[in-house]
Amino acid sequence: MRQQDMERNIVIIGNGVAGITAARFIRKNSYDRITVISSESDHFFSRTALMYIYMGHMTYQDTKPYEDWFWTKNRIDLIRDRVVAVDTDARRLEMGSGKPVSYDVLIIASGSQSNKFGWPGQDLRGVQGLYSLEDLEEMERQTVDISRAVVVGGGLIGIEMAEMLHSRHIPVTFLVRERSYMDYLLPAEESAIVDAEIRAHQIDLRLSTELAEITGNDAGHVNGVMTNHGERIECGFVGLTSGVRPNVGFLKGSAIELDRGVLVNDRFQTSADDVYAIGDCAQFIDPTVAHRPIEQLWYTARKHGKTVARTICGSPTRYERGAFFNSAKFFTLEYQTYGDIRSDLPDTQETLLWHNRSGRRLVRINFDSESRRVVGFNAFGVRLRHEVCEKWLLEGAVVDRVLPQLSLADFDPECAEWRLASAAAAINYSG
Ligand SMILES: Cc1cc2nc3c(=O)[nH]c(=O)nc-3n(C[C@H](O)[C@H](O)[C@H](O)COP(=O)(O)OP(=O)(O)OC[C@H]3O[C@@H](n4cnc5c(N)ncnc54)[C@H](O)[C@@H]3O)c2cc1C
Repeated sequence: MRQQDMERNIVIIGNGVAGITAARFIRKNSYDRITVISSESDHFFSRTALMYIYMGHMTYQDTKPYEDWFWTKNRIDLIRDRVVAVDTDARRLEMGSGKPVSYDVLIIASGSQSNKFGWPGQDLRGVQGLYSLEDLEEMERQTVDISRAVVVGGGLIGIEMAEMLHSRHIPVTFLVRERSYMDYLLPAEESAIVDAEIRAHQIDLRLSTELAEITGNDAGHVNGVMTNHGERIECGFVGLTSGVRPNVGFLKGSAIELDRGVLVNDRFQTSADDVYAIGDCAQFIDPTVAHRPIEQLWYTARKHGKTVARTICGSPTRYERGAFFNSAKFFTLEYQTYGDIRSDLPDTQETLLWHNRSGRRLVRINFDSESRRVVGFNAFGVRLRHEVCEKWLLEGAVVDRVLPQLSLADFDPECAEWRLASAAAAINYSG
């Protein structure tokens, strides 16, 4: 048999980090034909860098991790089109262009889309989420010559949008339903630091405030919002940033089982033969496989892509979730979290907390009261070394061993200040 007769036709829906990582790792280990389809862009770009384009720190070109010739050189075919339906019996994708695409193996890596909750006025011009390149272009158009913007939803994308608008000197009102920023994830001290950081940048932060209605003018353009407290805020732009959900609408009516996302086992296999799903659109049937049934993070999407590539290339591999990690930048404040840090400390855990006087540097270490094993780290304004924290968490290091060695996790050698935390071993310390 000739080599081309043995080659499978592997088709990937989505050129985000999950789909592209799968494509790259399959190419490293096989001669199969690989086709990546995206309706969004010709080439892979870093979604997490979208804000920096608006802020003028990067161009779109800078956000592409690979040169445009990389795909031809690696025999990865790119199609710019929208998949509108999947026929798993015929192994065929129906496309927006009308030209169907056949597959032997299909990987669905279609990502997320912004949530909308049916607010009156949500479809007015000047009202939008921030997820895609198209959203960014729309935001460019809609934020020219406006005297105020309102951002609704206190998550990671909401604070990014507030910062983007602030960078263009547009006054921003930020409506956050919670009593403090992200208090459903962050312990009270950390949440308060972010509230202060937001306000320090002249953002009009409205806590415990929800959007009731968006109002528009006769031309169909937004001109204000009403809050649940009955207050009207005049504005020319509304950012809706109340989370994202898996982008799976085009799979409805197919034989692929869906819940909120595409249901997968720990090898990313769906209910249909030779169909896999990875990244933000995948939902684990067994919720213990991952940190959350739907993981919506850059590094997890990458890990999904790498893992599914191994399975498809003949080494069936289960997903190894590793230690949870996330990082973000809230205006000028860097944040990292590792492992299991909850907003409310469980009865079975204890916490060690260090922060400096200004409150802009903070390190928290949570550990299990009985075994004394460290379960998580939070850091604000201090960079911890990923590999060190992850190792301690995965090997179940006890807090009494971690504290004297904290400097191993210290990313900023010039920042000796926070090493005092180790001296504060047994007590919560504020230095
Ligand atoms: C503004 C912003 C900032 C973020 N910042 C961070 C961060 O700091 N850290 C972090 O960990 N995560 C961050 N995230 C989340 C992170 O970007 C996502 O978790 C990650 O991009 C998911 O990758 P993915 O490959 O699963 O999907 P996506 O990146 O969403 O890619 C999916 C692709 O599939 C295409 N597609 C979907 N349906 C179809 C179809 N029917 N036909 C053709 N193409 C289709 C989409 O257009 C898209 O191009 C951020 C997200 C946003 C929006």
